[in-house]
Amino acid sequence: MTDSQRCLAAYGNPSLPAFAAQWLVRHPLPLAVRPFFPAFAGKPITALYLHRLAAPALDKVLLELVATGLIRELRTYDGCWVVRCKRGLAEYSIHSWGLALDFNAALNPLGRPKGGPGMWSEAFLNVWRRHGWTCGADWKARPDGMHFQYLPGAI
Ligand SMILES: [Zn+2]
Repeated sequence: MTDSQRCLAAYGNPSLPAFAAQWLVRHPLPLAVRPFFPAFAGKPITALYLHRLAAPALDKVLLELVATGLIRELRTYDGCWVVRCKRGLAEYSIHSWGLALDFNAALNPLGRPKGGPGMWSEAFLNVWRRHGWTCGADWKARPDGMHFQYLPGAI
Protein backbone atom coordinates (compact mmCIF):
# COMPACT_ATOMS: atom_id res chain seq x y z
CA MET A 1 0.00 0.00 0.00
CA THR A 2 1.23 3.50 -0.75
CA ASP A 3 1.07 6.24 1.89
CA SER A 4 -1.80 7.75 -0.08
CA GLN A 5 -3.75 4.48 -0.08
CA ARG A 6 -3.23 4.16 3.68
CA CYS A 7 -4.59 7.66 4.26
CA LEU A 8 -7.56 6.96 2.02
CA ALA A 9 -8.36 3.83 4.01
CA ALA A 10 -7.91 5.54 7.39
CA TYR A 11 -9.46 8.97 6.80
CA GLY A 12 -11.63 8.65 3.72
CA ASN A 13 -11.87 10.58 0.50
CA PRO A 14 -10.36 14.03 1.13
CA SER A 15 -12.56 15.58 -1.57
CA LEU A 16 -15.68 14.92 0.47
CA PRO A 17 -16.89 17.38 3.14
CA ALA A 18 -17.05 14.53 5.65
CA PHE A 19 -13.25 14.35 5.70
CA ALA A 20 -12.76 18.00 6.65
CA ALA A 21 -15.59 17.89 9.16
CA GLN A 22 -14.08 14.94 11.00
CA TRP A 23 -10.33 15.45 10.74
CA LEU A 24 -9.38 18.99 9.77
CA VAL A 25 -8.68 21.64 12.41
CA ARG A 26 -7.65 25.27 12.40
CA HIS A 27 -4.58 24.95 14.58
CA PRO A 28 -3.10 28.11 16.14
CA LEU A 29 0.69 28.15 16.00
CA PRO A 30 2.41 28.30 19.40
CA LEU A 31 3.09 31.92 20.37
CA ALA A 32 6.84 31.25 20.58
CA VAL A 33 6.85 30.12 16.95
CA ARG A 34 4.90 32.96 15.35
CA PRO A 35 7.71 35.53 15.11
CA PHE A 36 9.79 33.02 13.13
CA PHE A 37 7.19 31.37 10.90
CA PRO A 38 7.44 32.66 7.31
CA ALA A 39 4.63 34.79 5.96
CA PHE A 40 2.40 33.41 3.22
CA ALA A 41 1.54 35.66 0.28
CA GLY A 42 2.77 38.58 2.37
CA LYS A 43 0.53 37.79 5.34
CA PRO A 44 1.74 36.60 8.76
CA ILE A 45 0.65 33.08 9.64
CA THR A 46 -0.93 32.54 13.05
CA ALA A 47 -2.75 29.26 12.39
CA LEU A 48 -2.75 26.40 9.92
CA TYR A 49 -5.47 24.11 8.67
CA LEU A 50 -4.19 20.61 9.09
CA HIS A 51 -5.13 17.11 10.22
CA ARG A 52 -5.96 17.06 13.91
CA LEU A 53 -3.55 14.17 14.56
CA ALA A 54 -0.63 16.08 13.02
CA ALA A 55 -1.03 19.22 15.13
CA PRO A 56 0.78 18.04 18.29
CA ALA A 57 3.64 16.57 16.25
CA LEU A 58 4.00 19.81 14.31
CA ASP A 59 4.14 21.88 17.48
CA LYS A 60 6.92 19.68 18.86
CA VAL A 61 9.00 20.20 15.72
CA LEU A 62 8.45 23.95 15.53
CA LEU A 63 9.17 24.52 19.21
CA GLU A 64 12.38 22.52 18.98
CA LEU A 65 13.40 24.44 15.86
CA VAL A 66 12.89 27.68 17.79
CA ALA A 67 14.79 26.39 20.84
CA THR A 68 17.77 25.31 18.73
CA GLY A 69 17.76 28.31 16.39
CA LEU A 70 17.32 25.98 13.42
CA ILE A 71 14.03 27.71 12.61
CA ARG A 72 16.13 30.30 10.77
CA GLU A 73 16.35 27.76 7.93
CA LEU A 74 12.66 28.36 7.17
CA ARG A 75 12.56 31.00 4.44
CA THR A 76 9.15 30.45 2.85
CA TYR A 77 6.01 28.58 3.82
CA ASP A 78 4.46 27.00 0.74
CA GLY A 79 1.30 25.36 2.01
CA CYS A 80 -0.25 22.51 3.97
CA TRP A 81 -3.81 21.41 3.32
CA VAL A 82 -4.78 21.35 -0.34
CA VAL A 83 -6.71 18.58 -2.07
CA ARG A 84 -4.69 17.62 -5.15
CA CYS A 85 -2.85 14.77 -6.79
CA LYS A 86 0.83 14.11 -6.37
CA ARG A 87 2.58 15.91 -9.19
CA GLY A 88 2.60 13.66 -12.22
CA LEU A 89 0.93 10.77 -10.38
CA ALA A 90 -2.64 9.54 -10.29
CA GLU A 91 -3.11 9.43 -6.53
CA TYR A 92 -3.89 12.01 -3.88
CA SER A 93 -1.03 13.96 -2.38
CA ILE A 94 -0.68 13.60 1.39
CA HIS A 95 -1.41 17.34 1.48
CA SER A 96 -4.99 16.37 0.64
CA TRP A 97 -5.43 15.10 4.21
CA GLY A 98 -3.62 18.03 5.83
CA LEU A 99 -0.73 15.75 6.80
CA ALA A 100 2.09 17.51 4.92
CA LEU A 101 3.73 20.92 4.79
CA ASP A 102 6.01 22.49 2.22
CA PHE A 103 8.74 25.00 3.01
CA ASN A 104 11.45 26.71 0.95
CA ALA A 105 9.97 25.39 -2.29
CA ALA A 106 12.21 27.51 -4.49
CA LEU A 107 15.37 26.36 -2.68
CA ASN A 108 14.29 22.71 -2.40
CA PRO A 109 12.49 21.86 -5.63
CA LEU A 110 10.96 18.47 -6.38
CA GLY A 111 13.52 16.07 -7.79
CA ARG A 112 16.71 17.73 -6.59
CA PRO A 113 18.84 15.51 -4.33
CA LYS A 114 19.43 16.92 -0.85
CA GLY A 115 22.58 18.63 0.28
CA GLY A 116 22.96 21.38 -2.30
CA PRO A 117 23.49 25.07 -1.55
CA GLY A 118 20.61 26.61 0.36
CA MET A 119 19.07 23.25 1.27
CA TRP A 120 18.33 21.91 4.75
CA SER A 121 21.02 21.02 7.25
CA GLU A 122 21.05 17.49 8.66
CA ALA A 123 20.41 18.99 12.11
CA PHE A 124 17.24 20.61 10.80
CA LEU A 125 16.04 17.38 9.16
CA ASN A 126 16.85 15.42 12.32
CA VAL A 127 14.38 17.49 14.34
CA TRP A 128 11.57 16.48 11.98
CA ARG A 129 12.66 12.84 11.92
CA ARG A 130 12.90 12.69 15.71
CA HIS A 131 9.26 13.71 16.06
CA GLY A 132 8.00 11.11 13.61
CA TRP A 133 7.91 13.14 10.40
CA THR A 134 9.09 11.90 7.04
CA CYS A 135 11.33 14.31 5.13
CA GLY A 136 10.78 14.31 1.40
CA ALA A 137 14.48 15.16 1.11
CA ASP A 138 15.19 11.57 2.19
CA TRP A 139 13.26 9.96 -0.68
CA LYS A 140 15.67 8.24 -3.04
CA ALA A 141 13.58 7.74 -6.19
CA ARG A 142 12.02 11.20 -6.24
CA PRO A 143 13.42 13.56 -3.59
CA ASP A 144 10.97 16.29 -2.56
CA GLY A 145 13.08 18.52 -0.37
CA MET A 146 10.36 21.08 0.41
CA HIS A 147 8.02 18.38 1.75
CA PHE A 148 7.49 17.12 5.32
CA GLN A 149 4.72 14.66 6.10
CA TYR A 150 3.33 12.97 9.17
CA LEU A 151 1.46 9.70 9.06
CA PRO A 152 -0.12 9.03 12.46
CA GLY A 153 1.28 5.85 13.95
CA ALA A 154 -1.89 3.83 13.70
CA ILE A 155 -2.08 3.79 9.91
ZN1 LIG B 1 4.56 18.70 -0.25
